[in-house]
Parts: sequence; C-alpha cells; structure tokens
Amino acid sequence: MVSLTFNSPIENLDFPLFREKAITVDMKRDDMIHPFISGNKWRKLKYPLREARRQGKTRLVSFGGAWSNHLLALACAGARFGFRTLAFVRGEAVSNPNLSLCRLFGMELRFVTRQAYRDKVTLFADHAAHDEGAFFIDEGGHGPDGARGCEELVDELGDTYDHIFCACGTGTTLAGLHNGIVEKGWATRLHGVPVLAGGDFIRGSLDRLSRHDVAGRVALHMAYHFGGYAKTTPELNAFIQHFCAHTGILVEPVYTGKLCFAVFDLVARNQFSRGNRILLIHTGGLTGILGMHQQLVEPEKSV
Ligand SMILES: *Cc1c(COP(=O)(O)O)cnc(C)c1O
Repeated sequence: MVSLTFNSPIENLDFPLFREKAITVDMKRDDMIHPFISGNKWRKLKYPLREARRQGKTRLVSFGGAWSNHLLALACAGARFGFRTLAFVRGEAVSNPNLSLCRLFGMELRFVTRQAYRDKVTLFADHAAHDEGAFFIDEGGHGPDGARGCEELVDELGDTYDHIFCACGTGTTLAGLHNGIVEKGWATRLHGVPVLAGGDFIRGSLDRLSRHDVAGRVALHMAYHFGGYAKTTPELNAFIQHFCAHTGILVEPVYTGKLCFAVFDLVARNQFSRGNRILLIHTGGLTGILGMHQQLVEPEKSV
C-alpha cells in the first residue's frame, strides 16, 4: 500500500499581535507528515504513486530545479514504496545538500539545459522509449491528481475557519483546498501567497484545477514574494528568525516564511475582524534552509 497515513496536528500560534487583535491563528503542521516527503509534496504524490503502482510501473520520472522539495520527496517516497526514481534537473550539473539527499535515496539525476528542460514531454518520451516501467510525474507534482491529494487536507480539519492561507508555487495545493472547502459547503475564505514575482499565472492554474468557480472565493496576495522565487531580504530574514525563536516551529524563506510574514502583515493592517479564526498550512519544505542558512542568520564572529 502506498500510504503515509496520519493526520498532521494543528497548533495555535500565540503572539501578542494576535491577542491584541483578538484573532486566533492556528497552523496545520503538514511539515510533520515526514521529514523528507514533506507536507504538500506527499499529498501531491499520493495519487500519482498509487496510479503508478496500479499500472505496474517501476520507475518514477520527474523534473525540478536543483533545490526542488518535490524531487527530494519523490526520491524518498520512491525508496520507501519500492520504485526507482529518475529526475531531470534543470541547468548545469551541480552538487548541493538537496541533490546529495536525492542521490542518497537512490535517485538517478540527469542535468539538462534550460532549453531542453522546457520540453518535459519529449524528455520523458525519449526515456520511456526504452523503459516500459517509466511513469511521468510533472514538476512539483502539479496536476489534477496532485490537487486531489491536497483536497484531503480539508477532511482533517475538525473545526471551521474564517480564513485559510497557504503559500503558492504552482497553485496545485490551493486548488485542492478550494475544491475541498467548496464541497464541505463552508464559507471559509481561501488565501494564496504566491512566492514568485508575477504570480498572476496562479489564477489560470486555479481555474484549470478547480471543479468550482474560483471568482470571489480565493484571494491571492501578490505583495509578499520579496523579489521573487527563493529571494529573501533582511526584513524577511529578521521575521523568520523571530518566528522560529518564538514558536520552535521552523519556517524558511522560500515558502512558509513568506506565508507567515503575509499573515502577520495582514493582521497588523487590520484586514480581519475581531474573533476571526485563521489557519495557516505549513507545507513543509524545510531542507531549503540548507542552501540559505548563511544569509538567513549571521554567525557570531570569533573574538
Ligand atoms: C512546493 C511547495 C509549495 C508550493 O505548492 P504548489 O502546490 O505548487 O502551489 C508550497 N510550500 C512548500 C514548502 C513547497 O515545497
């Protein structure tokens, strides 16, 4: 059976700002689902992996950048559930802690030019021509099966929230949450925080993956990308430092740090009513810190 079944816990975030504004903010700890098959990456892989198993496939083939949380999740899930894994990695051959972990979990890596990377269908077809066991999984686990796994998060919420927030890369997670919430008949307002500049394309992704009208139900907050994907600023770094030190919950600058910053900022700007209940989804992805720890926190100087 391809499963990692347990409901991730929900924890309250206790900050003076939230008390002052009389707002409850909880966090769904999907980062606790697994250390490497992290958060939303597990949810997005669940149904593709089951489909691969059903079809008797033996090798999962996917795509990503050198710091992809998705590739690491796939490498580990492949090892755990008995699939070989092959990744086409965008750009020149490099080595970093994320790729070393992928290799450790037995993933085969092929570096391809940015040009070749754009045509994933051809990359896959060339490989599959001599490997019948190959099974295609899109970059980041993007797609309807990915959204379906994310939808299940909603079933784990014992309580209803006025607002639910998540960080967005492709928008697959947000689309799944939207489907789940509409089908529950909840009035919950859903919010996405795009972590890339120009996150407007997420609207298109939402429209394609949602079974229900998105208009007026999902808010995208475009002002929290901090310069673009995997970019950070001293302000975001200082916020992350404060958040981690205050809660014991790790967030990082690529996804969840931007998410948390956005919620704190919106609360401070009185965008919610007193008594509102807000849920943040911690989508995991903590190994991203391995590539940024030096710019995130300054080490002490020796005296
Ligand atoms: C991949 C990832 C996301 C983005 O999810 P989408 O479904 O592509 O929007 C968010 N948070 C973390 C930690 C991720 O690794």
